Amino acid sequence: MVTRFQDLAEVCRVLEQTAKRNEKIEKLSDFLNKLDGSETQAVVLMIAGKVFSEADERVLEVSGATLWKILQKSRQRQTSLVARPLTILEVQRCFSEIAAVTGPRSRSRKESILESLLGQANSLEAEYIVRILHDEMRIGVVEGVMLNGIAEACEIPDELVRRALMMLGDLGEVARLAFAGGKEALEQVNISLFRPVRLMMAEMAHEISEVLSEHESGTAFEFKFDGARIQIHKKGQEIRIFSRRLTDVTESLPDLVETVQRTIQADEALIDGEVVAIASDMKPLPFQELMRRFRREREITRIAREIPLRLHLFDILYLNGRQLVDLSYDARWSLLSSICPQEILAERIVTNDLSEIQAFLTKAVTAGHEGLMAKALNSPYLLGARGKNWFKIKPSERLDLMIVAADWGYGRRSGWLSNYHLAVRDESTGDFLEVGKTFKGLTDDEFDWMTKRLQELKTSEDKYTVWVKPTTVVEVAYNEIQRSPHYKSGLALRFARIARIREDKRPEDADTITKMRAQFEKQFEHKGKISEALG
Ligand code: AMP
Repeated sequence: MVTRFQDLAEVCRVLEQTAKRNEKIEKLSDFLNKLDGSETQAVVLMIAGKVFSEADERVLEVSGATLWKILQKSRQRQTSLVARPLTILEVQRCFSEIAAVTGPRSRSRKESILESLLGQANSLEAEYIVRILHDEMRIGVVEGVMLNGIAEACEIPDELVRRALMMLGDLGEVARLAFAGGKEALEQVNISLFRPVRLMMAEMAHEISEVLSEHESGTAFEFKFDGARIQIHKKGQEIRIFSRRLTDVTESLPDLVETVQRTIQADEALIDGEVVAIASDMKPLPFQELMRRFRREREITRIAREIPLRLHLFDILYLNGRQLVDLSYDARWSLLSSICPQEILAERIVTNDLSEIQAFLTKAVTAGHEGLMAKALNSPYLLGARGKNWFKIKPSERLDLMIVAADWGYGRRSGWLSNYHLAVRDESTGDFLEVGKTFKGLTDDEFDWMTKRLQELKTSEDKYTVWVKPTTVVEVAYNEIQRSPHYKSGLALRFARIARIREDKRPEDADTITKMRAQFEKQFEHKGKISEALG
């Protein structure tokens, strides 16, 4: 049996219009059940808005602008005569073909495959193909819904499907196993070296007292390094390093591989840690500099010399044939410390004394780190879970910014103007300069309120965006200010979130570009700097 892509597109439309989680799960599971086994993996990925599975390193390299250009062209040309219906597997094959094109004229060859695909698609199909390719699926089938859908379709407990995903890190692969081998196949899934797992995450703590009352068995406080999360897999001499997104980044980080080889005294291990770029004075460099190391494909040795890395390890999940995730944090820390030297372990203290914790936080920030992590001593390692066993404690920065435009939301946020373009005031010209966008921080009632208000302030609009008179001030919390080639202001916020709507403030009370530039510079007070000239 072969399923038409039209059927998938129709289901996506239905899922998008279904608000209730349970109904979504039921519709999803009905559809998954009707598919041929060979189609399940592709469908699960497409509905989740992914072109390839997570572990798959292939990329399409087709820009958003190109996509829209081809879509417009195919719309103009579209006839009502579509000779033969497109199938799901044909669409998937085209994605693979596009990714496989490399070398001279690859751009136009990619475009022509896409043109012919969209030429065969009707308008509903074309819309979903473009949304998958452009990472704009957002039909409210978040990962949890997909997991429940697979569980229901295969009659497997939800928890087992979740566990398999955390260990395999790959939704498509979990779906394939669940449909092919059912419950037994998922029960066999375990941590295996060189297969990246989903790492444990932390919740934000607002007060240190909150941490102490949550962690009854005691807390370890570690520096929270401002770097990139990595997991290191080691078996004998073979070492592989995976990024937070579970991509294999070993080739870009030969110096780190060498450090692991030199320092880790274990035959087999899976270790969790953070890597930070450092300046010549050993102070951590801003995150952007580190990312230049991660994306590097050429001149790796030169850039490794210019931007050295420092490793900070804080957990161990597997050691010499033994899975450790069910052990307590305390026990895992002992094992970790037994196989590596002190200097690559995260700096930490175990205490419940407020002034000691405060002093340790100050020490972390003064050393150029982000803050602290607070970890419950008795907690197991919960793969992929974000919870109160790990808290992050950061002194966050804030700016009062203007909303100058907003994009219409998708999925759960459809019907709301929910993605806000934020701007600072340029006091020399009176202009407002964009510095970022966010859809985070508002409650449903506030989204409602904001949508109405912004529509009243509308100055122009297109299909996706409404531009407004800049009169709404919001207090925005953020993690870091970065340089931006994209915005005219030259600066962009990282991890912006609306902390409060400031109805009490007028546009002239919004923060200025001068203040933001000063905040940007302040970030370097405790950080290393790198020469602007480095390529
Ligand atoms: P956030 O990205 O703000 O949610 O904070 C969680 C991230 O902090 C983790 O994913 C790690 O990349 C990073 N991190 C830095 N230091 C530590 C640490 N000592 N323990 C755990 N995570 C850490």
